Amino acid sequence: MKEKKHKHGEECHCCEYNHHNHDDGCGCGHNHSHGAEINKKDFIFKIACGIVFLVLGYVLSEFTEINEKIPLICFGISYLIVGFNIVKEAVEGIIHGNIFNENLLMGIASIGAFAIGEYTEGCAVVLLYTIGEFLQDMAVGKSRRSISEMIDSKPQSVTVIRNGKNTEVDPETVEAGEEFIVEPGQKIYLDGIIVNGNAEVDMSALTGESIPVSMSKGDEVLSGSVNLDGMLIVKATKPYNQSTTAKILEMIENTDSKKSSAEKFISRFAKIYTPAVCFIALLIIVIPPIFFKQSWSEWAYRGLSALVVSCPCAIVISIPLGFFAGLGASSKQGILIKGSNFLEMLARCNTAVFDKTGTITSGKFEYVNCECVHCHCENTSEHRELLAIIAACERYSTHPIAKSICLAFGHYADALKVEDAKNYAGMGVSAVVNGKTYFAGNEKLMAEVGVDFKETLLVGTAIYLCSEEEFLGDIVFADVIKTDSKEAVADLKRMGFSKTVMLTGDKENIAKDISEKAGIDAYYARLMPVEKVEKIRELKKKDNAIVLYTGDGINDAPVIAEADLGVAMGAIGADAAIEAADVVIMGDSLSKIPVGRQIAKKTMRIVKENIVFSIFVKVLIIIGCAVGIFDENAMWLAVFGDVGVCLIAVANSLRALHYRAKKRK
Ligand code: ADP
Ligand code: MG
Repeated sequence: MKEKKHKHGEECHCCEYNHHNHDDGCGCGHNHSHGAEINKKDFIFKIACGIVFLVLGYVLSEFTEINEKIPLICFGISYLIVGFNIVKEAVEGIIHGNIFNENLLMGIASIGAFAIGEYTEGCAVVLLYTIGEFLQDMAVGKSRRSISEMIDSKPQSVTVIRNGKNTEVDPETVEAGEEFIVEPGQKIYLDGIIVNGNAEVDMSALTGESIPVSMSKGDEVLSGSVNLDGMLIVKATKPYNQSTTAKILEMIENTDSKKSSAEKFISRFAKIYTPAVCFIALLIIVIPPIFFKQSWSEWAYRGLSALVVSCPCAIVISIPLGFFAGLGASSKQGILIKGSNFLEMLARCNTAVFDKTGTITSGKFEYVNCECVHCHCENTSEHRELLAIIAACERYSTHPIAKSICLAFGHYADALKVEDAKNYAGMGVSAVVNGKTYFAGNEKLMAEVGVDFKETLLVGTAIYLCSEEEFLGDIVFADVIKTDSKEAVADLKRMGFSKTVMLTGDKENIAKDISEKAGIDAYYARLMPVEKVEKIRELKKKDNAIVLYTGDGINDAPVIAEADLGVAMGAIGADAAIEAADVVIMGDSLSKIPVGRQIAKKTMRIVKENIVFSIFVKVLIIIGCAVGIFDENAMWLAVFGDVGVCLIAVANSLRALHYRAKKRK
């Protein structure tokens, strides 16, 4: 945020940015041209003075016989106090080529009202407009700040242990490998591994999950979580700028650059709209007097009222705010959406595609069986050696299956020397273990190496092992479906996903079993990562499908990128996934997708409500002005049509901030 200094260096109280006009991307969509530099006290003083002179002028002109110049002077002072800025901004807008903005509309309307002798109205227009703007600024500013605060957790200092002494330092200076102390109640500022102590850790800032997790020595902690009770000594695994918090912050800060099509539409719309309404107002003013011999002042009044009501700020302000609130609500739930265009996409998707391992299933494989070609009984040294070699090969792989193998049998391989570890995406791994090359993976990998192997009949994911010459045996690991997968899939179906599909590199029988258990309509097994990409392309072509793909980012980053909306699961810390995905789900619960969908739908509904409501009221009032049904109330109604509608729309937008889980029927 710091880089975004703008020429005029104005502080905007809508957001933390400094800027000088509209389009420079604070995302609050606000015209910061005026009101920006006033603080609250000055503002109230200014408005109070404006009102006093207005009332004075009104009373003098209506109830006394005083020289009519005196009320006029009062109105003039009132107008100058409040309206000066508006006129000044309008003139500046014209000088800078940004001609058609709200200030111009208000400027013309109020000066026009003076010209036809409607002094009270002229003053009231600028007065109410200014109050309205100020209230919007407050509302927008408050919500933006609370959203930013919610996500932002810029650390103050960290206590590191350097040369046996505890030293308070800036977290950015802590290097990977250094140990630091986290006291009870403190936030953990760097990713690391606990080397001493145990505690309940609140990860809700990252995952939205409110139940704390018990952690002890050897557990990995992530920056952004809070140590609730114990004293912890944590060894940093990454410097601050690569930590989870820093990555999330970077992502959030970039969200504004990805505008939804609704927002893009609005900015294009505003460019055509304002000149168009100015033109219509002009027609209302000139046509009846010229062609139908009507009174000039009456029609000028109507035309100017139409100009006031047509001010587009309700839409221009409330829509980006609505999206921002939606993004805030979802990040509070542990769903990070990288831009409002993706929020919009999440509301529109109709086909849900899932990866299997780590997405539908837990990715925590349990050992089932081990079979060694050289011996057929259990627990022999041959078995042990087979397990040790496989574990050694898997040491550097990040695949869930590799992690599970290492967790179970990694200690067998402690003494083995592993070199030249390679990953064969969708197949397995190879490595040189104690000087000899081995391959561990599925049938495809065995076929690739070209050894004869015996397929296991057990249910589960088999990992075969061979050297360059011969087949050595296999182990079977089984994975279970996550507890919430079935419910999440059912929820998505209820929320308008007409099709659910599972893609996996695993075997047919496992794919069938898991997809049935999760309630997924279709599955495709034995897919290589490139084939998964092709499948997505194929699905995208079918009957207007808009495809959401959810994967864990391991071997499927290209698939995540190919889908209309790519979601990365359980991606805390997985760089490739955070980069490739449009939506990142912290923690690994699939039920976050329906939650995100619900927030996205609600946000879109609010945005549409605001567009329809604002345009409807405005058009109604413009027509009313044009046909003259409002008589001398037109200008007042017009001010409501502008300021009132805008405030209502802003208030409506803020509803997007609040997510409440729907009750299941
Ligand atoms: P999925 O996420 O659907 O399992 P992947 O493309 O990640 O798809 O993997 C496909 C298959 O490749 C796995 O089911 C497994 O049989 C094999 N495989 C992938 N990585 C490894 C590995 N590190 N060790 C052993 N087998 C692996
Ligand atoms: Mg996978």
